[in-house]
Amino acid sequence: MSARAGIGYDSHRFGEGRRLVLGGVEVPEAERGLTGHSDADVLTHAAIDALLGAAGLGDIGQHYPDTDERWRDADSLALLREVCRFLSEHGWTVRHLDATVVCEAPKLGVHRDPMRVRLSEAVGLAPLEVNVKFTTNEGMGFAGRGEGIAALAVATVERE
Ligand code: MG
Repeated sequence: MSARAGIGYDSHRFGEGRRLVLGGVEVPEAERGLTGHSDADVLTHAAIDALLGAAGLGDIGQHYPDTDERWRDADSLALLREVCRFLSEHGWTVRHLDATVVCEAPKLGVHRDPMRVRLSEAVGLAPLEVNVKFTTNEGMGFAGRGEGIAALAVATVERE
């Protein structure tokens, strides 16, 4: 059995007239959402890159380029499901996912469990195998100034 870990990182800028979607969960109290070609779900994008990284299968921009109209306003959770199928075709089983969202506001804690459930369903794991954490950037940098949200993720996969 070969086990591997991969990392993922993503960031998106806040913009007017957008919904905030994180881990497939809409955050209705957010005054602004994130801009992007897809639904700009920065947490799910970091998770996708962690999984692709662990399996050695490239990155999200390679598989879902933002120049491709097929991915305009795409549901990132659907892309995550597709990536997991792709990994499975290559013999990989997803074992665990851990992520951190760097966001100054709004506070996201009440959405933690729904995000874990949605992400875990998408990758085919129990919610306990998917961890989602939140932190601020203490007012520093783009996340600290509220210009956008960043997310980091680590995934573990196994293959016979
Ligand atoms: Mg992205």
